[in-house]
Amino acid sequence: MRAVDLIRRKRDSAELSREEIAWLIDGYTRGEIPDYQMSAWLMAVACRGLTRAEIAALTEAMLHSGCVLDFPGANRGKLVDKHSTGGVGDKTSLVIAPIAAAGGLRVPMISGRGLGHSGGTLDKLESIPGFNVNLSLDQFRRVLEACGCALIGQTAEIAPADKKMYALRDVTGTVESPGLICASIMSKKLAEGIDALVLDVKTGSGAFMKTSEDAANLAELLVETGTRMGKRVVALITDMDQPLGGAAGNALEVIEALEVLGGGGPPDTRELCLELAGWMFYLGKRAVTVAAGKQLAAEQIASGRARDKFREIIRLQDGDPEVVDDPGRLPRSSGTLDVASPADGYVAAMECEQLGRACVALGGGREKKDDAIDPAVGLRFHRKTGDAVRRGDALCTLHYNSQARLAEARHLVETAYRFSAGPPPRRALVQRVIGDVPG
Ligand code: URA
Repeated sequence: MRAVDLIRRKRDSAELSREEIAWLIDGYTRGEIPDYQMSAWLMAVACRGLTRAEIAALTEAMLHSGCVLDFPGANRGKLVDKHSTGGVGDKTSLVIAPIAAAGGLRVPMISGRGLGHSGGTLDKLESIPGFNVNLSLDQFRRVLEACGCALIGQTAEIAPADKKMYALRDVTGTVESPGLICASIMSKKLAEGIDALVLDVKTGSGAFMKTSEDAANLAELLVETGTRMGKRVVALITDMDQPLGGAAGNALEVIEALEVLGGGGPPDTRELCLELAGWMFYLGKRAVTVAAGKQLAAEQIASGRARDKFREIIRLQDGDPEVVDDPGRLPRSSGTLDVASPADGYVAAMECEQLGRACVALGGGREKKDDAIDPAVGLRFHRKTGDAVRRGDALCTLHYNSQARLAEARHLVETAYRFSAGPPPRRALVQRVIGDVPG
């Protein structure tokens, strides 16, 4: 087989066989197929799509590029995880993982870095001084054993194909493909050896799936893939037509996650965290209903147990646990700039992807594969969709470290807001649930 032939066939919309896909993924993982050929294949896939059979073959090949974990000790709590398809300001994993572990589940979370305009859990965690997301398999097992939760990235041992393909897709315009998203997410999650999975499938202007129909199709694909592999899976389709919460940017999002763990934080972030954690407790059999699961999640926050758990996770992964009580220890930008409202009325809409790109422009994401992230930069939102505004009110504060990067980000933020004379219709935060829904 030759990579160039598989690229040309996908370019011409042919269906590749299971063996061909396995050969391509294996060759790329082992470094025998170069980045430029994989980039071309990914672009052909993004343009031409994949059939159901190709998606299944790709997921399987990526899953078996590394090892599939198992964690004996069934009496010590079900293994349950949550994953989002990506959005702006989505810091829920930082809140939910400690809530779930504090409530008796085990959470072996393998996450990703920023992808396109969307933020990534690993980059957020790395804004905590010292935090190590690159644990070996043994260390991962030890941390999970010690505190019920460990948060890492794809490694050379677990989901190595996704580690390489994810980094390439981030900078080659090949993220927005349902088949690639499904294989990326499910290869990581199935490698974790979990019993159940809660998926947060975003829809709206800041999501990869802009319409609710596309989001529902992706959700069905993800649920079908997980169910076929014997997992309990549910997908919540949630709103990403505006950023989640009050901040986007790595350290700024850690601060917001700490606020939620402390019992405060923006209502939408808090509500989504409780909803997703509630489903985790339900699927993991810690609660008999989702409502009881949400109650259990709220108790982990109110008692301080979730916050203590986050401190413990940070300590076990070599981070500075004192950030939990003193967020001032997190990186802070040298400059801030307010963007003011040009109009009276209401915020009618926010171009959410554009706000994500503003974050990347400030240095909070990557434009090339090996770019370093600036953990301190980002956006704080003072007015969001539906809020009343007066001309001159601060809409958003840009946190920046480089004047050179500021101009583009400022322009993106200034042109991201739409205004109206009256309040716009409200969008529900959780729009639909697909999958393992109680009968
Ligand atoms: N999250 C992932 O892990 N992969 C994707 O492709 C998109 C979101």
